[in-house]
Amino acid sequence: MRIDVFTIFPGLVDAFCAESLLGKARQSGLLDLRLHDPRDHTSDVHRTVDDTPFGGGAGMVMKPDVLSDAIAAVSEPGMPRLLMSPRGAPFSQARGRELARGPGVLLVCGRFEGIDERVIEAHGLEEVSVGDFVLSGGEIAAMAVMDGCVRLLPGVMGAAHSGDEESFEDGLLEYPHYTRPATWAGPDGIERRVPEVLVSGHHGKVAEWRREQREEITRRRRPDLWERRRLAKTNEEK
Ligand code: SAH
Repeated sequence: MRIDVFTIFPGLVDAFCAESLLGKARQSGLLDLRLHDPRDHTSDVHRTVDDTPFGGGAGMVMKPDVLSDAIAAVSEPGMPRLLMSPRGAPFSQARGRELARGPGVLLVCGRFEGIDERVIEAHGLEEVSVGDFVLSGGEIAAMAVMDGCVRLLPGVMGAAHSGDEESFEDGLLEYPHYTRPATWAGPDGIERRVPEVLVSGHHGKVAEWRREQREEITRRRRPDLWERRRLAKTNEEK
């Protein structure tokens, strides 16, 4: 998968992608990460990427010309172009799967108050949000999108892990996990034992317990997901 990131802090993204899962994907060639600094497309000595907003108000805005030149210099036909933005559609596991199936993606990171609206129009950028809160820049959002996609690429997480039962894959959150020791005393002195069914060796019962847990946790914590799933099922039956 090829990922092009546009950022005035390429070092941030590069350092993040050097370690762990992304680092390995990069080393093995499964991830072709390319970083582009809009400052390389400036012509003044200060390498200016921002300017004051028309209409007044606080903060600065990323200049359209510089950012647009940076994007135009690498634009690959057929690659989705995403702008990290709190106004965007919420990023999701489904969108991540879609992107991971494709050839790659362009990720544009805003800074300051954001980017000039005309760049969004001119390059057909699709605005994507990682949550209802404001970050100081798009880099963390782009890294979240990247990480979410790359771990889905075949070969990145190892053959045994299909990811099928993970949170969101079928509209449900995940079941609770336990590992050794089977009985463990926490700092409160209380001994906690793992649910008996998990040490029963009965695969059918384990699967049933996990499904129940997934449903219960989703219903309690995310009534929105639960309702969406219910509607989807009703539609299937029709
Ligand atoms: N003034 C803007 C916030 C700008 S934050 C507003 O009120 O909406 C600066 C940059 O950080 C944005 O251009 C965007 O690229 C990134 N960013 C901030 N929050 C984000 C979020 N929740 N999801 C994705 N990107 C975000």
